[in-house]
Order: sequence, then structure tokens, then C-alpha cells
Amino acid sequence: MKPHKQIKDWGLGLTTPLIIAGPCSAETPEQIEQICKEMKEENMVPQLFRAGIWKPRTRPGSFEGVGEEGLKWMEIVRHQLNIPITTEVGNAAHVESALKHKVDVLWIGARTTVNPFAVQEIAEALRGVDIPVMIKNPMNPDLELWMGALERMYAVGIDKLAAIHRGFSDAYDKRYRNKPNWSMPIHLKREWTGMEVINDPSHIVGRRDGLLEVAQSAMNFGLDGLMIETHHNPDKAWSDAKQQVTPKRLKEIILSIDFKTPLENMKPDERLQDLRRAVDHLDDQLLDILQERFAVIDQIGNHKREHHLTVFQSDRWKEVMESRTQKGVKKHLSEKFMKELLYCIHEESVKRQEKQLREAEPVKK
Ligand code: PEP
Ligand code: MN
Repeated sequence: MKPHKQIKDWGLGLTTPLIIAGPCSAETPEQIEQICKEMKEENMVPQLFRAGIWKPRTRPGSFEGVGEEGLKWMEIVRHQLNIPITTEVGNAAHVESALKHKVDVLWIGARTTVNPFAVQEIAEALRGVDIPVMIKNPMNPDLELWMGALERMYAVGIDKLAAIHRGFSDAYDKRYRNKPNWSMPIHLKREWTGMEVINDPSHIVGRRDGLLEVAQSAMNFGLDGLMIETHHNPDKAWSDAKQQVTPKRLKEIILSIDFKTPLENMKPDERLQDLRRAVDHLDDQLLDILQERFAVIDQIGNHKREHHLTVFQSDRWKEVMESRTQKGVKKHLSEKFMKELLYCIHEESVKRQEKQLREAEPVKK
């Protein structure tokens, strides 16, 4: 596969760490003008200006974006700040109108990335067009879907690609609006050599406080830029009011971030904190997988009970033990560790099934 073009080669004069800022939604020409004015006054002009024109809202009845008209207002950005602009597209009609208005970079939102039909429709509309596309991670932590959307773009000839890490929805963990699951962007970077990932702390945190901490973590993990929602009057914003910051605050955040420290040179406690966060997340995943495994074991137990089979079957055990140990050794886990781990898991499985047998109503022969 030929390599895709990195941000510096998009022909827009962009560099990394790439700073993208602008409102969640374009609301009025006056709003765009005021934001640009304050960015300029604060000397905090981003490299790329964002604004949503079509807003994918979770529930109907919220502000759904100003539509194509808003793209005309983006001229203000070019005029006042002389920087490229980016907006979200969710279908072929959006693509058509974004191209008509010469939007420089497109992004695909989290609610679209989950849907291969929609992503393919966008890809077809972009066949043969030379424009950079950034793909936000899907709502759910599914690396395949994220990669799939990037691949669909690449397959129609879009070679100017980047990803955006905006976190993943989680039914239980409400510390974040969208949980960062740092292992996901890191995996993406490992799987797709050279893929740059921009962090979007605004949609991860969902509040104004905490943006700096997430943005710093993103830089510590080696991500390649930040997208921060910025509005001249955040409290009065028509969408995502709680998480937007003023250009003044944006500047404070950007100035407080330590961009220059590559992972290896990071202060030991900072690095340790981030690595521990990654381990916490991996342990959560490990527990989820064990829970799933035992649920299947319980189903097998039921089946054995119904068919009057013994819980322990030595042939199967031998095969499990041997094949898993071999696989583990290939992954550089020691044979001793693999055997102990498998014994432990197997013992628990057998105990559960035996308990099921003891407690269940006898099955008639
Ligand atoms: C946005 O960037 O305003 C947006 C809708 O983001 P996401 O797709 O990450 O929810
Ligand atoms: Mn938003």
C-alpha cells in the first residue's frame, strides 16, 4: 500500500502539532466574525478553522445547523484570518455543497463513522477529488470501524488523511462525556504507519474544565494536534455550550501545554501517570473479556447438564492447554505463566459448571 499524505503534505501550509479551533456550530455571520476578531486580538489564530454547518444531534429538536448558507460566512474566516477551513460532512449532498464552497478540509463525525453505508456514500461523492479528510473515531470503541472509514476514503483516491480522537460513549462511566480509551488512538497509530491523530478534548471532556489535562495527555501519548471548540460567548452557544472556550481561554490552554516533550523525555511522574491510565484501561478490557468468557462457559455448562455430560473432559482440556500455551509463547509470554493462567481460568470454569449442575433442577432422562 502506498503511504498516505501526512498533514504537512496536504498543500495547505499546515504543520504538527496541528491546532484546529472554532465554534461547534456556525450560528450567524456576526458570530463567526466576532470569534475571528477575538482570535486575532488574542494572537491565537489556529492553523485550521472549524465550524459545524450540519449538526448531527443525538435527539431531534436541538439546533441542527444553519446549512449551506453557513459556508458563505466562512469567507469571513479567509478574509480576517487567512487560514483554511474545515467542516463536517455526513452525506453526499453535504460533500457537494462543501466542495462548491471550496472548504479546504472535510471531517467525518463520530455518528457517521459508525455507519459504513454513510461512509461509503461520502467516499463515492469524493472519488477523484483531491481534498484532505479527517475521520473522527466512531461512537463505540471499535478500531476496525475507524480503520474501515479511513480505508474507504483511501480506496477512492483520498490520500490526504488524518484521524480525530474524540472519545467513546460509555453507558456507565460519566467522568467524561466520551471516555478517551487512549489505547485506541495508539493502536490506530500502530496499525497504520504514519497515521496522524488529532485529539479533540472538547468532546471527550464535555466541560470547560479538564480540557487542559486531556490535551496534555494527548501530547504525552504522542498524538499530533488538538481540535478545541472555541466561541466568543460559550454560554450562549447554540450547541455544546458547556464545553466551548473563549479565544482568550484557548490561548491560556495552548500556552500551558508542554508540546515539546516526546514520550521518552517526559517528566517521570507525568509519564508514569499516563502509562498507568493506559494499564487501567487495558485491565478494564481484560475484565470485560473474562466476563464474556465466563458467560459462554455458563452456556456450555447448561448444555452439558441437558445432555448428561461430565463437566471435565480431558481431551478438550489438553487441546485448550496446548494450543493456548503455544499461542502465548509466540506472543512472548512465558510457558509457566501461560500454564498458571490457564489452570486458574479452567479451575474457575469447572467450578462454575459444577455449581450449575448441583443447583439446577435435575433434567429428566
Ligand atoms: C463536532 O465536532 O461538533 C461533533 C459533532 O463531533 P462528534 O462527531 O465528535 O460528536
Ligand atoms: Mn460539538
